[in-house]
Amino acid sequence: MFLNKFEHILLIIYHIIMFSELIHLFFPRLCPACSSALFKNEHVICFRCKNILPRTEFHLKPGNPLERVFWGRVPLKSAAACFIFRKEGGVQKLLHELKYNNAPEIGREIGRLYGRELANSPSFSEADLIIPVPLHPKKLSIRGYNQSGVFGEGLQETLPARMNEDVLVRNLNTGTQTRRSRFERWENVDSIFAVSNSELVQNKRILLIDDVITTGATLESCAVNLFKAGATDIRVACIAAPI
Ligand SMILES: [Zn+2]
Repeated sequence: MFLNKFEHILLIIYHIIMFSELIHLFFPRLCPACSSALFKNEHVICFRCKNILPRTEFHLKPGNPLERVFWGRVPLKSAAACFIFRKEGGVQKLLHELKYNNAPEIGREIGRLYGRELANSPSFSEADLIIPVPLHPKKLSIRGYNQSGVFGEGLQETLPARMNEDVLVRNLNTGTQTRRSRFERWENVDSIFAVSNSELVQNKRILLIDDVITTGATLESCAVNLFKAGATDIRVACIAAPI
């Protein structure tokens, strides 16, 4: 049997599809939160996890517990986190995979998901500039990406604001925060970060982003420096908060 050119191309396409089906059968993509195999139409995180992972809905609640963390420290327009962080929960698994298993697409997918929700909140949708908390250069060279940066990539796909990862820089002589005592951390918090070029933030409405918020010291330090550089206002969004 002789095939014409068109039939030959169709046959090749058919084989490629069959091959990808086989790959999918033997090496299914897994949801990083629940480890179940993803269906073809599911992207990165399964539909079930997107629905049942615990949410804060803080972007719809002015005066929420996350905003209260910053009261008396730095005047934020608003603060929100996508998920409630619980030890041993699906959110912790997501974050662990994002940070330690070379899975930047998890951050992007959460960013897209959360950006679509933040777009319904006037405070978040009016932001001009997304700024991620920079990773320590040593960690960045090991991980290959900043988990807050990839979260921002997803956010800027679904929000009007654009991201700039070069605005905030870490002062290298301060070391990593984890090596310091709690008191030392509080004492030198403003000197950990600096703004590289204040023209980039002057008169800008900033959306400052991070992965997990705990004491708020990192975000406070970033926000203080952004205000000093001339930012109009600042709101904060994180992937998760243990609240
Ligand atoms: Zn899942």
